[in-house]
Amino acid sequence: MIFLDAAATTPIRREALDAMWPYLSGEFGNPSSHHSLGEAAATALAEARTGVAKVLNCRAGEVTFTSGGTEADNLAVKGIALARRATDPSLSRVVISAIEHPAVEESARYLQRVHGFDVDVVPVDSEGMVTVAALRAVLRPDTALVSIMYANNEIGTVQPVAELAAVAREYNVPFHTDAVQAAGWLPVDVKALGVDAMSISGHKLGAPKGSGVLFTRGRLRVEPLVHGGGQERGRRSGTENVAGAVALSSALRLSHADQQEQAARVSVLRDGFINRVLQAVPDSMLTGHRSLRLPSVASFCFPGTSGESVLLELERLGVVCSSGSACAAGSDAPSPVLLALGIAPETAQTAVRFSFTSAVTDAELEQAAAAVETAVGRVRKLAPQ
Ligand code: PLP
Repeated sequence: MIFLDAAATTPIRREALDAMWPYLSGEFGNPSSHHSLGEAAATALAEARTGVAKVLNCRAGEVTFTSGGTEADNLAVKGIALARRATDPSLSRVVISAIEHPAVEESARYLQRVHGFDVDVVPVDSEGMVTVAALRAVLRPDTALVSIMYANNEIGTVQPVAELAAVAREYNVPFHTDAVQAAGWLPVDVKALGVDAMSISGHKLGAPKGSGVLFTRGRLRVEPLVHGGGQERGRRSGTENVAGAVALSSALRLSHADQQEQAARVSVLRDGFINRVLQAVPDSMLTGHRSLRLPSVASFCFPGTSGESVLLELERLGVVCSSGSACAAGSDAPSPVLLALGIAPETAQTAVRFSFTSAVTDAELEQAAAAVETAVGRVRKLAPQ
């Protein structure tokens, strides 16, 4: 099997598994317990936090461990917007882009539905880019928060986060970015990016599912969503997932140790794959930005097919990928991300995403491109004329 669905999830890195194992077995203490077992767990958690903070170039106290990317996004969008409005009731708008993950979009809709916020949606261009001008056009004195993702999970387009965050700063509006897809591949130095909040998910970068991080800058207040014992500086109650935090810290540090080399190497493989597919299926269409995209994502529409059918044929041929985002799987509706790019619904339904781990090889991608040609050919032959 050739696994080309790494944007959905990745296997746990061996080193991360080794790092977390003690906290699932002998060192099983609760970090809040006042005995040696608890203290060992608290120390491991503190070290994991420091490890994450080093990669993010922030303070350990600015790192909140969560149950994953979805919770980090929820905490950022709801938690920051609600805390800001509590200090200034006029702050009642949130800005998101048109291609956010449902974890951000649905959090914003919740604020609208339940708390009476207005949601301003910044459009993207046909390659999925948010421009500085487009953001400027929606910012208002009563904007409480801007949330624009770093890299898109379906098309891989990478936003100019530092420039967008700088615009938000001009208006004194905190800027959150969902870096769930970006964190394994791109720099996540929060000072260089100038972001006030950033979400990361463990399982996209070699840590287990159910581990995540929300960075929040300094004194930026966050209204907690989960109440209880006051763990994570009161930002997120609940006994901490010590093993998950340790694994996330390990995987994040490892992926950033050689991030530039891996990104450069895999980008070359990605471009080779894109060219092969565009040649093999001449009327196929690359979605997202041609070059400002994740090293690990190549996404296409294959007109005259259905993405789901191509996916099934590819699996028969030994290639595993995705017909959209895994989070939207099970739904027949065309992807809102592709529609936001201006792609017609019938074309959007033909989308297939290939996403790689850093272990991907050129030989695998050559085989996968040949499988794409066969799969698309088979689906078109079967399609009613
Ligand atoms: N944000 C983006 C961009 C994602 O791709 C995903 C998962 O696919 C998430 C958030 C949610 O992360 P998690 O699966 O850890 O809840």
